[in-house]
Amino acid sequence: LPPTMRMDAGGNVRVVVRVRAFLPRELYRGADCLISMDPITQMTTLHVPNDSDPANARAKSRKVIEEKSFTFDNSFWSHDMEDRHYAHQEDVYNSLGEEFLDHNFEGYHTCIFAYGQTGSGKSYTMMGTPDHPGLIPRTCEDLFQRIEQAQNETPNISYHVRASYFEVYNEHVRDLLVPVNPSQAPYYLKIRESPSEGPYVKDLTEVPVRNYGEILRYMKSGDASRTTASTKMNDTSSRSHAVFTIMLKQIHHDMETDETTERSSRIRLVDLAGSERAKSTEATGARLREGSNINKSLTTLGRVIAALAGPTQQRGGKRSKDIVPYRDSILTWLLKDSLGGNSKTAMIACIAPSDYEETLSTLRYADQAK
Ligand code: ADP
Repeated sequence: LPPTMRMDAGGNVRVVVRVRAFLPRELYRGADCLISMDPITQMTTLHVPNDSDPANARAKSRKVIEEKSFTFDNSFWSHDMEDRHYAHQEDVYNSLGEEFLDHNFEGYHTCIFAYGQTGSGKSYTMMGTPDHPGLIPRTCEDLFQRIEQAQNETPNISYHVRASYFEVYNEHVRDLLVPVNPSQAPYYLKIRESPSEGPYVKDLTEVPVRNYGEILRYMKSGDASRTTASTKMNDTSSRSHAVFTIMLKQIHHDMETDETTERSSRIRLVDLAGSERAKSTEATGARLREGSNINKSLTTLGRVIAALAGPTQQRGGKRSKDIVPYRDSILTWLLKDSLGGNSKTAMIACIAPSDYEETLSTLRYADQAK
């Protein structure tokens, strides 16, 4: 049952960009939208800000800035709802999440990352709101709908789903499915490596889930745990990577031979730390260390994805595993099994509509990951 066909170089990596609407504070300061997207070519253009916007004046006074264009696999225009090309949560799911779930049922591991500065729409895209659910709840809902349907059509295949939820903060792993004890310091888990399974988090909670309602509850309690700990520790949520994992196991029972075969796949949905944290220059001490850890993990992730996407890493038609720098950060090391090899990766670059410098840095990051 495991898939025998490997995709071509680059075929396993998708890079898309999404621009959000103005927030009240941006409307209040009369910000200009610096982004335009071409729905035909999928080209995203970052325009030179107007002099009247003080938030971009600093960038303009420091250096000559110019219009820049980038082309990605998809450009999601989620800026003004009146536009007929407006990308709703559902549209993002339909053009990315759904296809990735197809791959999971085929036996591939998948990984979807949301990258961008704090406030650019990463958690909106991944988690969403109760009224506008994002990729994670939509994936879970679709997963259980498909299982239900398959159970009626192919009763000789049984489906088993488990979930885990952890965050990587400052190169430490915290289990989000273990309730936070407010009187205790955060408890970090150890990372181990097994010869057969590769790197893994020791003692990480993995819960069996039977339906959408159950997985939704775990997702919410993990989120609450992330926020509670974060409030205690000075808003760490923008400085941690949150990794939601769904493990899907399909057991195929051959009625004639009475043999069973298994197909397992992992679905990783990752809300990355705010990219602006990577270069906070004023930081000292603990903040500096934390900043450099975020920087290291985001840079390493970019390099890993670029190595997987790029044909330059091919040797004699085969991907050379040792060039991919998984070991350079905890995040990439832990996600090794979901990046490269038998897996598909997508990066969603989330951008704010009126922040020239941060947006340029996000678009460049996404561009080098292609
Ligand atoms: P991040 O996770 O990158 O820090 P958030 O997802 O919290 O950013 O988004 C910041 C704010 O913008 C939130 O209030 C969120 O609801 C809103 N927002 C983000 N993206 C969109 C979008 N596409 N449409 C509507 N509101 C959005």
